[in-house]
Amino acid sequence: MIAKKDIKKALEKNELDYFYQPKVSAITGDIVGAEALVRWIKPDGKVIPPGAFIPLAEESGLIKEITLQLFKKLERSIKLIHEIKPLCVSFNVTADDLETDKLSEKIIDALKEKRLTPSSLELEITESKLIKSKPSVKDNLNRIVDIGVGVAMDDFGTGYSSLNILSNYPFSTLKLDYNLINGITSDNKKKFITKTAIRMAHLLKIDIVAEGVDNKQQYDLLLYMGCTIIQGYLISKPLPLNEFIDFLKRDIRYPGSTAGKLHMIYVDHILWYRDFVYYVMSRLQKISYTSFPPPIPSPHQCMFGEWFYKKGKIFLTESLSDQSVKKLEKLHLSIHDEAQKIIGISKQRIETTQHYDDILINFNRLHQDFINKLQECENSLVYSYLTPLD
Ligand code: C2E
Ligand code: CA
Ligand code: CA
Repeated sequence: MIAKKDIKKALEKNELDYFYQPKVSAITGDIVGAEALVRWIKPDGKVIPPGAFIPLAEESGLIKEITLQLFKKLERSIKLIHEIKPLCVSFNVTADDLETDKLSEKIIDALKEKRLTPSSLELEITESKLIKSKPSVKDNLNRIVDIGVGVAMDDFGTGYSSLNILSNYPFSTLKLDYNLINGITSDNKKKFITKTAIRMAHLLKIDIVAEGVDNKQQYDLLLYMGCTIIQGYLISKPLPLNEFIDFLKRDIRYPGSTAGKLHMIYVDHILWYRDFVYYVMSRLQKISYTSFPPPIPSPHQCMFGEWFYKKGKIFLTESLSDQSVKKLEKLHLSIHDEAQKIIGISKQRIETTQHYDDILINFNRLHQDFINKLQECENSLVYSYLTPLD
């Protein structure tokens, strides 16, 4: 039985250290991050997992000292990891760690003194730890987010009021819990919940990590569903720093595809279309449009445009012909051109009786062409992903 005094001794003797578990981009197939997970390494080399001592450390308040001691090690490790690859390394914190500003000050100092960059670091925190937390926890999280460091909501899908916590805290990543992922290939409910969570993260414009992925079927399904980051034994178990660095040096490429993301964009544009048509019709019916804002007419600001002009165009050009990508862009621009025209007409002709059919006829055709092209591109991406290399 581990007692509080044993943990104290482990701290004094510096026996706690992080292991690192890689995270893969489901879009590029590249290693893009790692999670630091604490281990107690006994002098005889025996490794004690966190489940055996973290609950007691949290109960007894020792966790704060542990996190601060580990953060120093994390800084050094990130420096070594970055000599190989510029990964984002996440570490686990509890509400206790954020009640005072000790940890947030340490993070802010490390960034100010350029020992770390904001994109190299992410905090993971479980929703259950936030439910009854003091207001200072949220203040400290906000300070950390304000300097550009990400915060992930851990264990999504296991708690009680995840959505309430999600809407009240500044999360930049959602982590789907092992218990959810573990059933996605056999349990339809878990599959639908996962799909919906991925869709929600996409709309919130935050990353979504599936943890505990331990087989290829789960990996493929998550890729298909549009999950952005994958972590689990299928890629690797958590490794001591030196082994993790060796792992990175092997520069392994995993399967990746833009198909899942493109499918999200496809659904987004159908929803954009729907908002647009509702807006125009309500204008023509002289109904003041209060319940929904008008859809954004700019081709750079709809979900497709935002993605396409940031990273999407590059990703698509890697997998599709230049001609296909150009055609997609052209069709998209023409829909938004037409949308701008229609907005003008609907404003001018608010007093006339011109029927909506006449106004929307060209717009409908253009949108249909764009949707068909998006589908064609998605099919081509799926085909190239599923085609065996040999
Ligand atoms: P977590 O943050 O949800 O971490 C994920 C756990 O799932 C890790 O267990 C990891 O080893 C395990 N895991 C990863 N991939 C797979 C997989 O494919 N299959 C299975 N079966 N398991 C997988 P670990 O390292 O034992 O950590 C357990 C928990 O302890 C963590 O859950 C976290 O809540 C806590 N913890 C770990 N390190 C720290 C820390 O530094 N500080 C605090 N406060 N808590 C920590
Ligand atoms: Ca975690
Ligand atoms: Ca978890």
